[in-house]
Amino acid sequence: MESLPERNIPTKALLVEKPGEPFVLQDIVLDEIRPNELLVEIKYAGICHTDLVVQEGKMPLGSYPAVLGHEGAGIIRKLGEGPGTSDLKIGDRVLLSYCSCLNCVACQEGRKGACENIAMINFAGTRGNEDSAISLPNGERVRGNFFGQSSFSKLAVVDSRSVVKYPGPVEDLSFLAPLGCGYMTGAATVLNVLKPKPRSSVAIFGLGAVGLCALMAAKYEEVREIVAIDILESRLQLAASLGATKTIDSRQYETVEAAIRDVLPQGVDYIVDTTGLAYVINNGIKALAHGGTFAIVGTPRPEALLEIQALDMLIHCKTLIGVTGGYCDPQKFIPRLIEMFQSGSFPVNKLHRTYPSSQLEEALQDMKSGKVVKPVLAW
Ligand SMILES: [Zn+2]
Ligand SMILES: [Zn+2]
Repeated sequence: MESLPERNIPTKALLVEKPGEPFVLQDIVLDEIRPNELLVEIKYAGICHTDLVVQEGKMPLGSYPAVLGHEGAGIIRKLGEGPGTSDLKIGDRVLLSYCSCLNCVACQEGRKGACENIAMINFAGTRGNEDSAISLPNGERVRGNFFGQSSFSKLAVVDSRSVVKYPGPVEDLSFLAPLGCGYMTGAATVLNVLKPKPRSSVAIFGLGAVGLCALMAAKYEEVREIVAIDILESRLQLAASLGATKTIDSRQYETVEAAIRDVLPQGVDYIVDTTGLAYVINNGIKALAHGGTFAIVGTPRPEALLEIQALDMLIHCKTLIGVTGGYCDPQKFIPRLIEMFQSGSFPVNKLHRTYPSSQLEEALQDMKSGKVVKPVLAW
């Protein structure tokens, strides 16, 4: 007879009972870790729009109740003895990222962000829906291992494939925690996917965490013109302080194309869209210079893709790419971003604000109103 899993690690987590219900702090019980897993004491966890999309029930993968959170960081308290944990030891500080299958072609080529199983693994949980590491005290199963971590929790069972070791002090995790998702995606879109040529121009649509990190990466690559576009004055100012050469309040123009052509009459070489808005994407393609490339990083609504400017793209040799996870390998790319941070070229400590996990509501309000770029929960 198969033995039942040991459920012996009580802790607290922010739980979403049903789609559309709020996050509620409550008692949960974790299963004992498996050989390919770690028990991590979560110190900080960034809040990302993807957590809210799933909380609202708009992602048709995975069950409820659920513990979300996928920008976690903390300290290893227990360690499995599987092959994926050999470089780690108890007490190590770790940053958590998304999980990939390690078996498909993209994974084997080091582009884990383009893993063909990425959606299933990360949204349904690495152990799968039926086999979560989390339950309620009454025994009911809860979706866990969200992005290999479910880090809106004081303690978390983490898949070793999600782990990146951090050699510095634990306090740094308060601003480095979001490296595993939003920050990395924005930077990798520029550094790994677009690879802008010297003396080229880049426009960033939407100055949230992803857009601002794309901007910092463009500055790092010494792009000649960096055009930052948003509707919030505070974000435009922040973008200017981070290296934007032009900032545009898009409300002052009929279209985003008109806004860009006003400062770059020939069009712009690269566009990073973080808005996912149909009319912005369609019109934005027209603002590309001949041979330009448009990267969609936000999650567009389907109609955005039905109306694309195919003729304009054909005539002017334009490229449209959808980017997930920056096409990168977090275990290699995050250490690179940490080096860039340490040399002053990737100042992510200017983007966050920390909130005690009990003040989640305030954090969400500040995120939605635009008062804070990246709210980070402290456990
Ligand atoms: Zn995210
Ligand atoms: Zn894969």
